[in-house]
Amino acid sequence: MSEDTPVVEEVKPTNFIRQIIDRDLEEHKFTSIRTRFPPEPNGYLHVGHAKSICLNFGLARDYNGKCNLRFDDTNPSKEDTEYVDSIKQDVEWLGFKWDGEPKYSSNYFDKLYGYAVELINQGLAYVDELSPDEIREYRGTLTQPGRNSPYRDRSVEENLALFEKMKNGEFKEGTACLRAKIDMASSFICMRDPVIYRIKFQSHHQTGDRWCIYPMYDFTHCISDALEGITHSICTLEFQDNRRLYDWVLEHISLNSPTRPHQYEFSRLNLEYCLTSKRKLKYLVDEKIVDGWDDPRMPTISGMRRRGFTPASIREFCSRIGVTKQENVVQMSALENCVREDLNNVAPRAMAVLDPVKVVIENYPADQEEVQKAPNHPTDQQAGERDLHFTREIYIDRADFREEANKQYKRLVLGKYVRLRYSYIIRAERCDKDQDGNITCIYCTYVPDTVGQDLPDGKKVKGVIHWVSAKYAIDARVNMYECLFKVPNPGAAEDFMSIVNRDSLKVIDGAKVEPHLADASPSVTYQFEREGYFCADCRHHTRENPVFNLTVTLRDSFQA
Ligand code: ATP
Ligand code: MG
Repeated sequence: MSEDTPVVEEVKPTNFIRQIIDRDLEEHKFTSIRTRFPPEPNGYLHVGHAKSICLNFGLARDYNGKCNLRFDDTNPSKEDTEYVDSIKQDVEWLGFKWDGEPKYSSNYFDKLYGYAVELINQGLAYVDELSPDEIREYRGTLTQPGRNSPYRDRSVEENLALFEKMKNGEFKEGTACLRAKIDMASSFICMRDPVIYRIKFQSHHQTGDRWCIYPMYDFTHCISDALEGITHSICTLEFQDNRRLYDWVLEHISLNSPTRPHQYEFSRLNLEYCLTSKRKLKYLVDEKIVDGWDDPRMPTISGMRRRGFTPASIREFCSRIGVTKQENVVQMSALENCVREDLNNVAPRAMAVLDPVKVVIENYPADQEEVQKAPNHPTDQQAGERDLHFTREIYIDRADFREEANKQYKRLVLGKYVRLRYSYIIRAERCDKDQDGNITCIYCTYVPDTVGQDLPDGKKVKGVIHWVSAKYAIDARVNMYECLFKVPNPGAAEDFMSIVNRDSLKVIDGAKVEPHLADASPSVTYQFEREGYFCADCRHHTRENPVFNLTVTLRDSFQA
């Protein structure tokens, strides 16, 4: 916690869903709760999913309930086990544990088929042979009721036989489907005889070639919830109308679960400068606008991990934004502030010179060196200390030296004193420049006995700059990031290419960093003093070729 953050008493979060659960438990509707997080494995999870994960797993944790992880895998053409694996990894990394084994909607394909047959037997489902275009046309619009399909009144026997044929692969894709028989005039379009099974000659990542018909989301989801004993089925607001269908299906099948699940909707997370749609994120990956799903500029959980965000900071962010039914767009600074606050507490400190210029300490002998101690964290003594090697030649950042400057500039200036962090006070005497006027070397003198001490005349030196030993520092590549998009609401853009920030990655080669950073673990984010937070890149960092990613700057760059 930074010094000026007030200590607030921890309050139990509340929101409308918690109020519903409190009431349900009070009324003994359930003795315990079970929630689920139901991603479709058709992409990597993003920050919006983090909100849903924190909500569902957080409720289970706080109410001593259980939360299932269920892959909602009814559309084999877009799904892949790569996504299944990444989703498991992301949920675990965020710090949550699902109950039992991960579940798959495809585990229930046999049962779902049986319930579809049940609906047919009750005269509540029929095989339609209208084409997909005709079905759309017959469906009507928000202002116009739909029309009944000419196949709607087939007999139960005929429907059973045709559905069997569908299952046996005797129909071509798009020539038949199973529809629930509800109401073509309903004011809810989703209730106008929704398709519940369609034909897809497509291998499935879990069931292989066993099926050529696949159940639709609305039919699958409620039944899967009921089969798993889910009590509170929480989803985003776009499914509000579908709740009618959710309830209709459960009311008309013989699945008598003691905990008949109910669906509750909350508003999805929209984050400034970010896309929160797997489909659009996949486009960025496929078009190579980014370097994979875990590109550190991506708002994916894997991207945020590679960037150096901590799980705790993402959980804190999700807790701060809350759960409501209001549509809103959250500022990027809200997320970054959570990351900064957490990292300020936990990040080990190190020194890295991103734009190095050599400094020669002329009154320090070339064959001399000494070890100075630096704390790894300013307030956490448990973090210990490390050795800094002071040598005649060091590097400082180019931006930390000027030949002349006014009093506002509290860094190194010709003829003036500055403190090297955790080390001596030095004074700049002169400098070398190349033909273009760039400074190539700065010559200084150091003042003996000033490690942890003021100048001999008692004067304090205001400026403190970071540095590394030229002899011991190692070279590193540093990736500096900006937002991937130039506009706050990229989701609204028709053409991504026109709003992609082409300068969102700047690669710095030849930064000079403390030698122990060669062994940095990608799971540890450092504060490079006076520069920002950085972590080793999990894909490219090696001992021989260190690579660091900017996690977040020290200060909010979104403020005007
Ligand atoms: P996308 O449009 O990115 O594909 P989705 O809703 O289709 O998202 P799912 O895999 O079906 O993705 O989502 C799993 C769960 O995460 C669902 O319960 C969904 O409501 C929730 N979710 C998805 N996006 C968000 C978001 N931006 N904010 C909050 N919850 C979300
Ligand atoms: Mg979806």
